[in-house]
Amino acid sequence: SGWFGNVEQAPKDPILGVTEAYLADDNPEKINLGVGAYRDDLSKPVVLNVVRAAEEKVMGKLFMEYLPIGGLKSFTEKSVKLAYGDSAQCIQDARVAAVQSLSGTGSCRLFAEFMHRYMPGAAVYIPKPTWANHHNIFRDAQVEQKGFRYYKPDTRGLDFEGLMDDLQAADEGSVVLLHACAHNPTGVDPTPEQWQQLSKLMLKKHLYPFFDMAYQGFASGDCDRDGQAIRIFLDDGHNLGCSQSYAKNMGLYGQRIGCLSLVCADKAEASAVESQIKAIARAMYSNPPVHGALLVDNILGTPEIKQQWYDEVKGMAERIIDMRTLLQQNLEKSGSSLPWKHVTEQIGMFCFSGISPEQVDLLAKEHSIYMTRNGRISMAGVTSRNVDRLAAALHKVTS
Ligand code: PLP
Repeated sequence: SGWFGNVEQAPKDPILGVTEAYLADDNPEKINLGVGAYRDDLSKPVVLNVVRAAEEKVMGKLFMEYLPIGGLKSFTEKSVKLAYGDSAQCIQDARVAAVQSLSGTGSCRLFAEFMHRYMPGAAVYIPKPTWANHHNIFRDAQVEQKGFRYYKPDTRGLDFEGLMDDLQAADEGSVVLLHACAHNPTGVDPTPEQWQQLSKLMLKKHLYPFFDMAYQGFASGDCDRDGQAIRIFLDDGHNLGCSQSYAKNMGLYGQRIGCLSLVCADKAEASAVESQIKAIARAMYSNPPVHGALLVDNILGTPEIKQQWYDEVKGMAERIIDMRTLLQQNLEKSGSSLPWKHVTEQIGMFCFSGISPEQVDLLAKEHSIYMTRNGRISMAGVTSRNVDRLAAALHKVTS
């Protein structure tokens, strides 16, 4: 045998497996509700107009030099403002450590590694359920994971009481991972009042908030509104951490462009923290890719273009919200006696439908409709053309 005869096949990624099954199906009416990437009403991937315009500006320059380890400084500065608000006190105080990252996954991974080194013994509390890759990320960084209640299957909404009880009982000094908006996979977010209560509890219990913000603007269509949880925590005086991704809200999936930022006590702390995050990045991948950073820097850097981008994100969010309404209406019209209110109450890219793994299998086998086995529907895959068929099939497998 070879050097690696002892290596076993790794389990398939649950999300990428859905796409494989979809591609192997030759039914022309097949529907892919697995993929977490935006599609237009013709099921086509979208390149935003602001991205096309930025691309033209950037293209001619043929800039192929290395970026510094921490990435493009003018990009990280703008990115942090987008997350925390232009006038955030922590930015004015110059106490935010920030580096360009390999999209949202990369910033979570950097943070997990930082946590392992500089918060020794601290556990990360992760919502149940969460984006499956969070578990891989913290496992690989050797950080202990604990769960907190988040989702209530009965109501298909937030288990706020469970969440507060579990965090009340959490070990002081732990990290709590929060989805800043458009929670994946449930589409269930706390209300502003609930965020306020949570923030107060976490201050009292000395718990560190780490916000994974993969969908800013994508939830409500308004980047400031989608940043409100972070702003509530900042106003309360939390020194928090934040992972940003431009995959979804700018449609820059393959560019791997994001930002990791940690709010620190003062400028000196921020400088030390940033230097250590760079030391981690240096050994992992040396420095981040340049092209996506130039694109985002361009878009965020000009007020008119930034406004155009806001409008385009809003357009994507609104198409998804419209599909939620149509799906719920069609389900109700189909004669289903089940409650489907959660379809429009949930927010962001995903609808946590509440159907069982067996029903998911039936949808694939009998209707060529594909989604992850936890019943998560990617609303981006729903269009005005396929929503009737989807509603009819959902009714059929649930009745
Ligand atoms: N975090 C959450 C909650 C996500 O849903 C995703 C993508 O699906 C990511 C992070 C990471 O995405 P990316 O690495 O493409 O920015």
